[in-house]
Amino acid sequence: MAVGYGQGSPGVVHLSESTFDRSRKGEDDKFRAHEVAHQWWGHLVGPATYRDIWLSEGLAEYSAALYLLLGKNDDKAFQHVLREWRKKIVQRGMMGGRKSVGFRAGSIWLGYRLKSELSPGDYEAIIYYKAAYMLHMLRYELRQQAGGNDSFRQLLSEFAHKYANRLVTTGDFIATAGQFLHERTDQFFKQWLYDWRVPKIKKRWRRSDNGYIDVLIRVEGVGDDFFTPYPVEIIGDDDAVIAREVYMIKNGENHFKFDAIINGTRIAKVNFNPRLDILEQ
Ligand SMILES: [Zn+2]
Repeated sequence: MAVGYGQGSPGVVHLSESTFDRSRKGEDDKFRAHEVAHQWWGHLVGPATYRDIWLSEGLAEYSAALYLLLGKNDDKAFQHVLREWRKKIVQRGMMGGRKSVGFRAGSIWLGYRLKSELSPGDYEAIIYYKAAYMLHMLRYELRQQAGGNDSFRQLLSEFAHKYANRLVTTGDFIATAGQFLHERTDQFFKQWLYDWRVPKIKKRWRRSDNGYIDVLIRVEGVGDDFFTPYPVEIIGDDDAVIAREVYMIKNGENHFKFDAIINGTRIAKVNFNPRLDILEQ
């Protein structure tokens, strides 16, 4: 039997013994949780066409990561997973021994057509990891809109109940997400699901002469109408986080400024996208 073999079928999850004794504990937990998650994503609701396959793999992969974060309360493992996904999405090179050009291979919407001989590793990079990362950004945006409330779980529950024992399309998922994401829906899925590009985000900050911190964020490599929330953490002299901001940034240059001293504490550092909530190159 192949090392690390696992498959989830309706009502049963088949896992080889080796998935219980790998060196990295978090990886094993996620791997098994991925197969268990297929009980919902893949079996309870199945993808209707080759374009909708991310609804099975991406949802199973993100559900598995959420199991680490919310089920096991292991934020460190969750952050590790985000870093690994990002690496696999943006890399050019090899993916599990197969050639990969990462996100450049095409959008999530291409589905099985990503299984190309030119870069056979990219089906996994896009349909598992980029789709999972997109779901993470969806959850992030929902939390911003709902003042920190995690309505993403409500969205998954609604989706599973509504389409139980049916085949689902990407449009069905977007319609369900739209009930929570509202007017942001079209833009969000256009830039992350239908478009293949991943932004390159250059950022810097400096102390201006007149008592402000100037922030410059330059977004490249995406479409003209690209627009996303982007988290920034402001660190004080005492190394503590003194403010968290979410800037809306668009393609091109984005300027922001804030006071160099907040509540009597001098700003020492600005951290951009510190928890990798937004996918960037
Ligand atoms: Zn799977």
